[in-house]
Amino acid sequence: MLKPNIIPDKEPVLYVGIVLPEDRFTNIDIEVPDSPLYKLISGESEEKRLQKGDRLEFVINHGAISLVINEQQSIESATWRIEPVDSKYIVANKTGLKVKGVITGRGFHWVKNIDVYLPGAIEISVIDSNLVVANELPIEQYLMCVTTSEMGAECPPAFVESQTIIARSWMLANIEMKHANIGLDVCNDDCCQRYQGTTFLSDEAIRGALNTYGKVLLCDDKICDTRYFKSCGGITESFENVFGDEPISYLKSVVDAPGQFQHEALPLDSEDSVRKWIEDTPESYCSTHVVPESELIKYLGNVDVEGEYFRWNFRYTQKEITALLNLKMDIDAAAILAIRPVKRGYSGRLIKVQVDYRHIDGQQESVIMEDQYVIRQTFHELFLYSSAFVIDIEKGIEDIPEAFILKGAGWGHGVGYCQIGALGMSLKGFTAEDIVYHYYPGSKLKKIY
Ligand SMILES: [Zn+2]
Ligand SMILES: [Zn+2]
Repeated sequence: MLKPNIIPDKEPVLYVGIVLPEDRFTNIDIEVPDSPLYKLISGESEEKRLQKGDRLEFVINHGAISLVINEQQSIESATWRIEPVDSKYIVANKTGLKVKGVITGRGFHWVKNIDVYLPGAIEISVIDSNLVVANELPIEQYLMCVTTSEMGAECPPAFVESQTIIARSWMLANIEMKHANIGLDVCNDDCCQRYQGTTFLSDEAIRGALNTYGKVLLCDDKICDTRYFKSCGGITESFENVFGDEPISYLKSVVDAPGQFQHEALPLDSEDSVRKWIEDTPESYCSTHVVPESELIKYLGNVDVEGEYFRWNFRYTQKEITALLNLKMDIDAAAILAIRPVKRGYSGRLIKVQVDYRHIDGQQESVIMEDQYVIRQTFHELFLYSSAFVIDIEKGIEDIPEAFILKGAGWGHGVGYCQIGALGMSLKGFTAEDIVYHYYPGSKLKKIY
């Protein structure tokens, strides 16, 4: 496992959770590919060579795991490990062990089961009567696989390389360690970074990892916390305004445009300037001037064809907003009277909002919301793209507005690397190094292994 606050001097090996205890699996099927050759290791019996096409079925049986190979022998062991005989195997699209029906979208409404191909070794164990499947593999192979899910087929190499550098730095900075209690560095889902092995692995992602092998961003002799998001909307946000902690020098707000860029709304230090900024389409790297949104799908994974991210609108009728805020905040409102910005960050992202409403008992009340995450969760049925928005109303009867319109900018928390902006920079001919230095000012690129 990775060790926090230690800069490795050789390529580390990662343990990635593929099946977690909360998935409540009691069995898992694995298929052995034509190549490379694999061996099977258990605590209780001798090492055994596997044959191509072997079908392995692991089932929990009285606290141990019984293994049935090709529907024949059954062998028992507390743990199992399958590993390549030769550690220098070739990694390419759909190579490795095929693990069937693993969960993706864990805990979300889009949760589903998919088959994945995994390079490296697999370990199977039991925790609290549930199967746990871990994938052990060198970090560079892991990085190829995770950057693949962040991009489409036509990504410029500089974009892929910059994305790989920040994914590597993020992993090695090892800020979160959400699964350390069960011996895993990361899981396979959006909770950490989406990892589906070599299932969708592209040649571009392989090249991106090879061309940046071992390179990370450093600041003050520490690997940088390289956070990222989809679109800043023209300006990134500073760390302390979003994560409420001490400022971090390389995670400060930057205008996502060339140094000479100017705009009459800047800096965004009043409601007027924020409105001017959001109602305009400034020519930042992530703007639709540089990357037309209809073409985003060619470059990025996880975007909608019809999506509007740089500038967007949501209209809620009085009835809709009342129902939404009652549901999200449990306030028993009869009507929403006003949504008032109280505090914003440098990018226009709201970090404090006041909602005035008429209570069902007739009196007027207010509620305050802090934290951009809470604000985004509250003002959308699922999750609002960003908290950088201004509020328009359509007048109704007396003091009760007919509708509220949220006009917003960007997608995500806004701290660190702007993915669509990085894509825009690469399309304009900037290198991976230019891109990472733009988003993490004051950091230094270094090859550590
Ligand atoms: Zn996780
Ligand atoms: Zn941007």
